[in-house]
Amino acid sequence: MKYIIVGGVAGGATAAARIRRIDEKAEIILLEKDNYISYANCGLPYYIGGVIEKRDNLFLQTPQSFGSRFNVDVRVRNEAVKINAGNKEIIIKDENGIEYTEKYDKLLLSPGAVPVKPLLPGIEAEGIFTLRNIKDTDRIKEYITGRKIEAALVIGAGFIGLETVENLRNTGAKVSIVEMSDQVMPLLDFSMASIVHRHLLHKEVDLILEQAVVSFEKNNDKINAVLSNGDVLTVDLVILSVGVKPSISLAENSGLAIGNYGGISVNEYFETSVKDIYAVGDAIEFRHPLTGEPWLNYLAAPANRQGRIVADNMVYGNIEKYEGSIGTAIAKVFDLTVATTGLSAKKLKQAGILYTSSITHSGSHAGYYPGATQLTIKLMFDPVSGKIYGAQAVGYDGVDKRIDQIALTIKLGGTVFDLIKIEHAYAPPYSSAKDPVAIAGYVASNIIKGDMPVVSWREMRGLGYGNVLLLDVRTEKEFCSGSIPGAVNIPLEQLRSRLQEIPADKPIYVYCAIGLRGYLALKILTANGHHNVKNLSGGYRTYSFATAKHEQPNRDIQVCGK
Ligand code: FAD
Repeated sequence: MKYIIVGGVAGGATAAARIRRIDEKAEIILLEKDNYISYANCGLPYYIGGVIEKRDNLFLQTPQSFGSRFNVDVRVRNEAVKINAGNKEIIIKDENGIEYTEKYDKLLLSPGAVPVKPLLPGIEAEGIFTLRNIKDTDRIKEYITGRKIEAALVIGAGFIGLETVENLRNTGAKVSIVEMSDQVMPLLDFSMASIVHRHLLHKEVDLILEQAVVSFEKNNDKINAVLSNGDVLTVDLVILSVGVKPSISLAENSGLAIGNYGGISVNEYFETSVKDIYAVGDAIEFRHPLTGEPWLNYLAAPANRQGRIVADNMVYGNIEKYEGSIGTAIAKVFDLTVATTGLSAKKLKQAGILYTSSITHSGSHAGYYPGATQLTIKLMFDPVSGKIYGAQAVGYDGVDKRIDQIALTIKLGGTVFDLIKIEHAYAPPYSSAKDPVAIAGYVASNIIKGDMPVVSWREMRGLGYGNVLLLDVRTEKEFCSGSIPGAVNIPLEQLRSRLQEIPADKPIYVYCAIGLRGYLALKILTANGHHNVKNLSGGYRTYSFATAKHEQPNRDIQVCGK
């Protein structure tokens, strides 16, 4: 049996190695148009920032080592240009530009994604880069090694954009980030992204939201980036991180079906519209297990797993179905860890799925053991059954294990009640006897059971002077250091003795710092005959983050108005 694989990194290299493990006799050809295979794309921002010091550490295998270990004919600088599916042959362009043909029995495409490069005036100027592969990385590294980078601009605040921001900041550069939407990390909901906004400002990153770069001009050794509001940022380096799209030209030119979202269409065995041609990784679109709709998912773990599954399907004949990825992702943003799984609230709204949400802030481990930090979890779930649709977590410590537990629960079709059943390994340095995931589960189940009606920070905004009583049950000192406009302060400890001050005819929206005292106040009020009481989800902490201004006070250092 002869297998040809197009693309030699995550999905392609995994599939080649797996095919060899299960079919010692197979002929396997791995085609890669660049110089390298099986390298760590996910490590590229860290090599640029110097965290990964040695370039060699990015390479998990060389073409030679991979070829000899797995007995694979690895052909780098060989690009697949056309498939003649009728004859089961593929046309390949070698490093000298000469085309030749290879026959295959089974073909796998794992060509990845290509960075989006908007057609802006001046975008080809020296010093403007995308970051996708080793070639891009070498170019950036060479550019920043040869000169002093005082100011850098990252355009696009997705996960990779923010990793790049951190790494450029680590080189000592002043870093601006320009993002078209009103928040960083579009996979998150605004309230969770706002925690990241504050952290970026704390790290003296110049965060510019709701602006686009409209053109570039060369300014001696520097680059002027012109924003949609007319401001000009003068920088030494620009990294474009405005997204990627599936690499489908080979598939499209060869007549393979492309789906509505622009990815190669595959069935649950990863077979394309043409028999014996398979595809995996960033280039495909696949049904989301929660919405049932196809979607694009640019993540390494799914690409690797798909590579393994597809190898089994190619060798044994479609035997294993893929259930789909829910998009579990994580990024380090300076000291913060930011993670997401499943569907965000805004995606649920778009998909027309009825949901409710909860926000909880817990200690990363027992408060009495030194070093505990705040960990925020947002859960999205069905308001009746409690089935979990998605979660986001932001914090300094232990974010990864919490998001992974919730991701597994979602993949198994679990509910918020299942989160309470997770048996967490607990000792004070690691967690609390009630782990943050369990607390998220308890709060969400209280919402479902009607024990704790909640109000969101958005609903709370601008309500204080209307027909609703905003009741702040924090201490006087906390209240004085910042509160929601129009709120009345009755500390929780005084609430029972001051019940006569609470109007009987108004809805009451209670809040405290993170939600716990608000819940206790809600219980006291409802037990005393107030039936229209809600607690602010995530408390004043969430409200104040989400309503804060995000502009860096010292922006004028880098910005000269036109
Ligand atoms: P790739 O790994 O991109 O491999 C595709 C290969 O196919 C490329 O080498 C390309 O040159 C080759 N190719 C394309 N067309 C042809 C052709 N016609 N002929 C021959 N060869 C061809 N994901 C995470 O989950 N976590 C992270 O932290 C993370 N960080 C990232 C950081 C960066 C800077 C980048 C760029 C990506 C990151 N990713 C991360 C995404 C992850 O790397 C991808 O999801 C994954 O590599 C996709 O695997 P793939 O096999 O589909 O494509």
